[in-house]
Amino acid sequence: MNSHQAVVDQGVLPPIDTEVQLRLRTALQKRQTAEFYYLIDVVGTCNLTCPSCPVGNYTSVSAKGLMPVDYFERVLDKAKAEHPGKKLFFDLYNWGEPALHPNLSKLIAAVKTRSFGCGISCNLNVFPDMRAVVKSQPDYIRISLSGYHNETYQQTHRKGDVNRVKANMYMLRHYIDLYKADIIVQVGYHVYRTNFPNDFLAMRRLCDELGFIFAPVIASLMPVEKAVTAVDGVVAEADKPVLDKMVLSMKEWAHSLAPYRKDHQDCQYRAVRTTINYDGSVPLCCATYEDAQIVARDFLEVPHDEIQKRKYAHEFCGTCMTRNLDMMYTAVPSPKMEAAAAEILGPVWRAYIEQANQPLERRISWKDKTYGIQEGADLAAALVRRGDKADARSIYELICSEMPEHGDAHYHLAWLVADENIERALQLLEIARKLLPGHPPYERAERDLLASRGVVRVGKRIARVQDAYNEAVERESTAPDESRELFVAIRGVFPDYNGGTAPPASASVPPVNVRSYGGRVMDRAKSIGRRLMRP
Ligand code: SF4
Ligand code: SF4
Repeated sequence: MNSHQAVVDQGVLPPIDTEVQLRLRTALQKRQTAEFYYLIDVVGTCNLTCPSCPVGNYTSVSAKGLMPVDYFERVLDKAKAEHPGKKLFFDLYNWGEPALHPNLSKLIAAVKTRSFGCGISCNLNVFPDMRAVVKSQPDYIRISLSGYHNETYQQTHRKGDVNRVKANMYMLRHYIDLYKADIIVQVGYHVYRTNFPNDFLAMRRLCDELGFIFAPVIASLMPVEKAVTAVDGVVAEADKPVLDKMVLSMKEWAHSLAPYRKDHQDCQYRAVRTTINYDGSVPLCCATYEDAQIVARDFLEVPHDEIQKRKYAHEFCGTCMTRNLDMMYTAVPSPKMEAAAAEILGPVWRAYIEQANQPLERRISWKDKTYGIQEGADLAAALVRRGDKADARSIYELICSEMPEHGDAHYHLAWLVADENIERALQLLEIARKLLPGHPPYERAERDLLASRGVVRVGKRIARVQDAYNEAVERESTAPDESRELFVAIRGVFPDYNGGTAPPASASVPPVNVRSYGGRVMDRAKSIGRRLMRP
């Protein structure tokens, strides 16, 4: 009986904490969301020579070197100036091993001090400056590997030693805990026929133990120049062994993506991502390797718009896109390919995919405990009733951040922040109203809130009703339009007010619970919320 059969016969996908996995994955996705991405290959070489990567499968390797810190900082400043006010993310790797950069922690700090997102990907065979890097807190660290035992790992991570990788994984967990560093670690497990399922399951278990995301990907051949010839059926003798280990042939995978072309006319790698080599040169994208695909010799010398223009004018994208390789590398899902992979990898893979696709039950963590969203909302409501508004407020803040489509949390939070910051309270009410248009308590909430505080809103200005009334009377003859606007604002909130003392404020938070309006309303709120959240 082979090892694959042993696992299948047991019919087992051993239990791990899938909730932690799903939560970390969602958190990472949130962190990585940006309007434009830069991949900066800060080290132009690697300590390994993997056969699926150009560092290992090209006989003529590109020049090697490190990006100097001052050049790197100028890159960041240029990117910032060219995307004013935009959310940017910087990944400090491409074909090189960033852990080899002697100033990696300084590079990460340079990104973070500019308030941009930052991630690194490494093979973790060596990590001389791990302590300083953890302290510099990149948003994520990705560990790229392909096995749990050296007999399998070394076939596809040539010159590597997975025992060193595992030792460094433990060290990484140790430093993250020691420095309470807010870093998400993701293990990118490259799946080949040769490292599935036993190595796969063992690495999954280790990730569970260490609290790292286990993120398998079906391996493919890089760079795109080589992939083009592989899809065309022309394969160099030296590349055959690694292609034979792949779950799917490049040709089969590429062809399975053809039906999705109509929805993927452009390629994300050129649209929202710029790659920069260690020497400042700019390749067409992160998947190209050859010199013919360089679009600028020095990133600092060529404006962003011109780089984009050159990418879009480069004919190689056509070569790549006619073979659907852009969709393969940007992970466009292909049910046909997924079914073919499941056929080859068997029930363990099927069970894994099913588990990975489970929707996340979102939770919040408050005072060392975790709560489901509704559980948290119920707790907050109970705290309000008990008069513990500070705790209630912190729970509603967490719910609004974890579940931005939760109208009720926005509504209640508005009342709790109103005394301190009435503008924010009104913004929160506006969000609740947009999430569930026509919902009566939300519709009248602004008026109720203003009335409870004895104030009115005139344009963007908030004024005490008495002051607004005095001003309206005073300006009746000199500025009749402004005066009318003030009276309208007053009447909208206090229909019977005619000067004198403002009506007494009622600071109570009216009870509203979307659940009481039934699941259909909640579904509608969620779907509107999702629409609003879409970029
Ligand atoms: S570790 Fe990564 S960069 Fe280095 S050779 Fe392997 S795939 Fe390429
Ligand atoms: S179409 Fe291909 S070559 Fe062009 S940017 Fe996308 S992945 Fe790169």
